[in-house]
Parts: sequence; structure tokens; C-alpha cells
Amino acid sequence: MDYDVLILGGGIVGCAAAYELSKYNLNIALIEKDYDIADDVALINCSVVYDGCEGEDTLISKLQVMGNDIVGKVSDKFNVDFEKCGYLIVAEDEKGEEKLKNMYNTSIRRGIKEIYLLDKEQVYEMEPNLNIDVRKALYSKNTGVISPYDLAIAYGEIAFDNGVNFKLQEEVLDIQKISKGFSVITNKNKFTCTTVLNTTPGENYSVDSSNKVNKNRSNLKYFLLEKEFKANFKNIISTLNESENKLYTIPTVDGGYVVAIKTDENITYEESIEKISSFMGNIDEECIGAFYESSFFNDTLIIDDSSIDKGYVKVTGKNYSQVTITPAIAKIVCETIVSNLNCVLKKDFVDKRRDFYRFRYLSNDERKEIIKLNKKYGKIICNCQKVSEGEIIDSIRRPLGARTIEGIKRRTGVTFGSCMGAQCLNKISSILARETDKKITDIVKDSKNSKIMISRIKEFDDI
Ligand SMILES: Cc1cc2nc3c(=O)[nH]c(=O)nc-3n(C[C@H](O)[C@H](O)[C@H](O)COP(=O)(O)OP(=O)(O)OC[C@H]3O[C@@H](n4cnc5c(N)ncnc54)[C@H](O)[C@@H]3O)c2cc1C
Repeated sequence: MDYDVLILGGGIVGCAAAYELSKYNLNIALIEKDYDIADDVALINCSVVYDGCEGEDTLISKLQVMGNDIVGKVSDKFNVDFEKCGYLIVAEDEKGEEKLKNMYNTSIRRGIKEIYLLDKEQVYEMEPNLNIDVRKALYSKNTGVISPYDLAIAYGEIAFDNGVNFKLQEEVLDIQKISKGFSVITNKNKFTCTTVLNTTPGENYSVDSSNKVNKNRSNLKYFLLEKEFKANFKNIISTLNESENKLYTIPTVDGGYVVAIKTDENITYEESIEKISSFMGNIDEECIGAFYESSFFNDTLIIDDSSIDKGYVKVTGKNYSQVTITPAIAKIVCETIVSNLNCVLKKDFVDKRRDFYRFRYLSNDERKEIIKLNKKYGKIICNCQKVSEGEIIDSIRRPLGARTIEGIKRRTGVTFGSCMGAQCLNKISSILARETDKKITDIVKDSKNSKIMISRIKEFDDI
């Protein structure tokens, strides 16, 4: 057999499972079709880490409780920002209050800790800038925010350092059962393995019997408000009322806000701004850094280990809290796979992410120390986010280093500022080309067809 375990898909679930499995003496590879791991994780650097109080589905709620606890522990260990900022679910009308009380009672029955039912005065005391009529609110102290791809990349880097073989830009075409395991056919290779963990969403290969996912989706429109927008909300806040529409405001780990509208209606950009303003006060459009539309996924999530005796496990279904529940899924799936294989824990497993520096969070004295060691840290490339050349080079040379502009952005924070790369994109592209020994015209944003520069201008060729 080429491998003991082949993990298909390098999203956050695949990377976290690779990390858990890399603790054992197994020969593991992960196959990902994109240029980078965690490429689809989210467009913004902010995910809510739920605590189980909101989930209608009991399984999802249990996974959220377990995931919230593990995220707290691994974020410290991996040096990933995770802030338990708290969560207020605000009832605006009678129907909302009824839903809120049901949610609270269900949470108590489920044994969820640190949740409280608050009166309107207590809510305004906590959030004096709230611009809506409050009847009551549910307060969850353990809910927080994390950068989803920082967590996913941390899982991937440690798995890589502990021997997992990452095969990027390789697409799985089929998985076939063979006498003592599986044959995984990709666009480049044909591998054999004892066990397959399939985390690719919605793919149906020869081994798959049927697609049982129950899809439940609404529209999500969300705005990224920059640091300059002074809303001054401490907590994540969402609304509950008689309609199915919901508004969310989420403080990001970088000091901005994400404001989201979950709705089944088809509303325009202008209508979305109007709805947000009724919630947060008038929005100065200058403060809107970005506007995105996406689906809000609330599918049933299936961890299908019914074929584990043959060596096949599949995780399917897209869920709005997948980042939160991933650490729990990874542990469950790992236990299932390990109990089916003859393996033991590795003695030399290194449970640590290699160090890195984020200049924008350091004091001047700390910066001076690092610049003394490496002068490249003294040259700021992204002025908005204060990212130095040293940080960009490190993001490329690290284990599973960045190979795209998006990869550098996710690892260092470049181009996340108000100029969105207008001033630094060329410099970043040149550094990536130099470090990877490529032509600048071969540098891509994130995928094959996303070249940053299409060609050289003819006159320059002549010089
Ligand atoms: C707008 C939005 C907001 C969200 N907010 C939150 C939040 O606040 N809190 C929270 O907990 N979660 C949140 N989520 C959920 C979360 O970000 C995603 O659901 C999660 O990242 C999915 O991870 P995954 O690993 O399951 O799937 P994916 O990230 O889709 O990973 C699957 C991987 O498989 C690869 N792949 C697919 N097919 C093949 C193939 N044939 N061969 C090889 N590779 C293949 C893909 O390229 C991909 O990298 C949000 C999601 C969205 C869209």
C-alpha cells in the first residue's frame, strides 16, 4: 500500500484530521485540488466560535460545545487569535422573546454553561450604542471569534511538520474499492491505501452509495466595516423577531466589524445598508471595506463511518458553524480510524507550530530586536497593515508555505487594509516571484486562471 490513510480535501476539516492522525505512527497523505490548503474556508478573517446555545439540532449543538472547548485550548497552543468576546441574542418583539426563552430553556437542558437571560436595562448597560428596541436577550459568555484560516493553516503546518505528505494542485477523480483497501485516482496519480477519509463536499465517487445530505440554505449578505467605523460594540450581537431574517454584528480579531444579514428575501445592496443602519446607526459608506454575498449553510452534517470496517469514512454537509465544530469532528474521526488500524502514538510527535512574528502587534523594542537579527523585518511592504518583507518571506518559506497572493494575505494580513493592495500588490508579487524562482507573469492570486499580471508591456521588453 502507498499509504495507511489518504485524506481527501485540504479544508479546515481535512487539515484538523491530518493533525490528529499525525500523532500516530501512520503513513498519511492529504490531497487538495487547489494551490493552497484552507482556500475555501471563508473570505474574511473572522468566524464565530459558537457555544451550542443557538443550534436547533442537538448533534450540532453538542459538537459546538465540544469544539468551543477544544478551540480555546488549541488556539493558545498554536498562537492563533481567539477572543471570547461574548454573544447577545436580542429579542425585538413578542415572538422573538418566545423563541429566545425556548432557546434558553433548551440550552439549560443541554447543560450549556455561562448563559444568562438579560432584561432590556442590562442589555443597554452592556451595549449602550445598540440602536434597536430590546425586550430581552440571551447572553452567552463563551462565544467568541477566531481567524478561521489561521486555525486551519496552523493545523496543516503541524501535521506537515509531523510527516503528513500534502499533495496540492491534485484533484481526486475517483475512489475505488480494491481487495485490501482503496485505489484513489487523481488527475496526476493512482494511489493505494488502507483507509480513506473523504472531506470533499458533495463529491460522489464509485465507493459512495447515496448522497443523504439534507440541504437547508438561505442568503447571507455581509459587509466588512473597517477599524475607522466606530460602532463600539463589545459583543457579537444578533436579532430575533417574528421574521426569519436575522442581523448580526461581529467584532473582528483586527478591530473592525462584520455585519451580516441572513434572509430568504432577495434584497438589494441599498436595502441591506438600510437594514444595517437601523441596527447600528447610520453607516458611512466610506467605512465599508467589502461587500460579499454567500449562502448561509444549515445542512445536516453527516460523519458517515458505516463503512469503517472496509476503511472508508466520509464527512459531508455544509454547516454555518463548521469552523467551530471542526476540532470535535477531527477528534471523533481520528478515534474511529485509529481504532480500526493497528497503530500507536508516535514518541516524537511535536505539538508546536513554528514561531512567527506579527509586527503590527509588537512593541518598538520587540521590533528592534527582530530587525537586528534580520534586516528584512525592517522594511514595511504593506503600510495599512504594517507587514514587513521579513514576514512575507517567512510566510513563503514556512512549512506548507504560501504559493499565491491569497496565501500570503491569509498568513500575514497583507492587503487587508483600506487600500486593499493598491499600494503593495506589485511589491508582494515581486517577492513571491523571487522567492519561488518564478516569472512575475506566472504569479497567481489563488488559482490557475487568476494571474496578477497578464503579460509584460511590449515597450519594456525592448529595454
Ligand atoms: C459566508 C460564510 C460564513 C461562515 N461563518 C462561519 C462562522 O462564523 N463560524 C463557523 O464556525 N463557521 C463558519 N462558516 C463555515 C466554514 O467556514 C466552512 O463551512 C468550512 O470552512 C468548511 O470546511 P470544510 O473543510 O468542511 O470544507 P471546504 O473548506 O470546502 O474543504 C474541502 C476541500 O476539498 C477540496 N476538494 C474538493 N473537491 C476535491 C477533489 N475532487 N479533489 C481534491 N480536493 C478537493 C476543496 O478545494 C476544499 O479545499 C462560514 C461559511 C461561510 C460560507
